[in-house]
Amino acid sequence: MTTDVTTKSAGTHAATLAGTNWAGNLSYSAHGVVRPTTVAEVRDLVLAAGAAMADAASGAPAGTARLRALGSRHCFNDLADTSGLLVSLEDLEPVAAGHLQLGTTAAGIPTVRVSAGTRYGDLAAALFPLGLAVHNLASLPHISIAGAIATATHGSGNGNQGLGGAVVGLELVTGTGEFLTLRRDEEGPVPFDAAVVHLGALGIITHITLAVEPTFDVRQDVYQDLPWASLEQNFDAITGAAYSVSVFTRLREDAADQVWLKSRVDALGETGDLGYGDDFFGARRAAVALHPLPGISAENCSEQLGVPGPGHERLAHFRREFTPSNGAELQSEYLVPREHAVAAIAAVRALRERIVPLLQIIEFRTMAADGLWLSPAGQHDTVGLHFTWLPRQTEVEALLPAIEAALAPFDARPHWGKLFTTDAARLAELFPRLGEFAALADGLDPAGVFANDYLDRVLGR
Ligand SMILES: Cc1cc2nc3c(=O)[nH]c(=O)nc-3n(C[C@H](O)[C@H](O)[C@H](O)COP(=O)(O)OP(=O)(O)OC[C@H]3O[C@@H](n4cnc5c(N)ncnc54)[C@H](O)[C@@H]3O)c2cc1C
Repeated sequence: MTTDVTTKSAGTHAATLAGTNWAGNLSYSAHGVVRPTTVAEVRDLVLAAGAAMADAASGAPAGTARLRALGSRHCFNDLADTSGLLVSLEDLEPVAAGHLQLGTTAAGIPTVRVSAGTRYGDLAAALFPLGLAVHNLASLPHISIAGAIATATHGSGNGNQGLGGAVVGLELVTGTGEFLTLRRDEEGPVPFDAAVVHLGALGIITHITLAVEPTFDVRQDVYQDLPWASLEQNFDAITGAAYSVSVFTRLREDAADQVWLKSRVDALGETGDLGYGDDFFGARRAAVALHPLPGISAENCSEQLGVPGPGHERLAHFRREFTPSNGAELQSEYLVPREHAVAAIAAVRALRERIVPLLQIIEFRTMAADGLWLSPAGQHDTVGLHFTWLPRQTEVEALLPAIEAALAPFDARPHWGKLFTTDAARLAELFPRLGEFAALADGLDPAGVFANDYLDRVLGR
């Protein structure tokens, strides 16, 4: 086990200040980070935390003994925070050191089992020489697998589920120190679909098994200035025009700024031609590579201009070699059943005057229903209305209720890892199994080792 330099005592372990999240808008209130290198060490930490919380005689406030697993720090809210100690799995069987176990499901689907702190980009790079690939990626390849599935992180594609859809196995240490292995194709003590989007509430996940597939090539083409009327009339055709489609807008009056098409080359026929030429539903082909934001160089973006290449180097918007340590931005996202896409986009456009002063960029993406209890796409094929904001949190949070009200008729569900103001009562309506999930979490973590303010807030505790 490695720990940061000692400043404060935390049971048998010691640590320094926990630092901030990626965006820098949250300084973790945790009193440090520990980095176990074995599953046994993870269990020891949990048992020590549970014992310290039960030991009223110690005189320490129970909250300081708490734990919370930490992924790659990319959440914009306090989901990953704790009044106790953060547990990073960065040093637990890293993929870079060759820790990766291939297998198959009972149905013969290839799988890979890795340490839960593995970042998607590192996994994809390690799988590629083995002829294997993950089905999709988020916009950034630097996020951890356990942290991504915790919040139902997704990429895009009418036929693509979010990243949690590929999870077929989870191994975790619960709040009582019990080892639990859950498999999608086996009945277990916890419903599998309840455990994938886990909000960090069920335990420390040590390993994750993902369904993978043979590698595939992707070409990325960008079109500019998609007229709003065209998007409204052709929404399904546009979002279905490639394996993964993103529409970017700064809410100009006339048109959406960019459409990014990520097309699987094996679906394009022998010529590999996209079939749209210079005109894509009224948008024109970009002649040079573009960043989603005007005036910013595309050098950190994944390759465009239709050059085919490995899918894992095209599906994320940004290159893995480009490792931003933090970003001057905030994010929110609301996800609505796809049948409401056009109306929901119109509702957002109607708030243009209030949104634009705080906006960097909006992105629309689609995802297929996945059946996961806390996934915003649990029951429906879904469209995500994503907002990248300027780093002006007070003003952004003052605006969010207006956006949430405008999208309420469409049952918009917030992204768990981004900024939102939806309260517990409304969340319980939007996620009908939230109460059952809370009961499950209480059962696996009766002492509240993994409890934090965020969970108290969203679970209405
Ligand atoms: C630049 C940027 C781009 C993004 N792009 C997308 C995108 O394209 N699509 C999208 O849907 N989202 C996107 N997000 C949001 C991001 O994917 C989510 O916030 C995600 O949860 C971050 O994962 P993380 O590893 O950084 O998690 P963290 O913020 O570190 O943690 C998130 C949660 O996971 C829990 N957790 C982490 N590891 C474990 C573990 N081993 N066991 C138990 N619990 C654990 C933590 O306790 C916490 O509750 C983006 C965020 C940023 C900053």
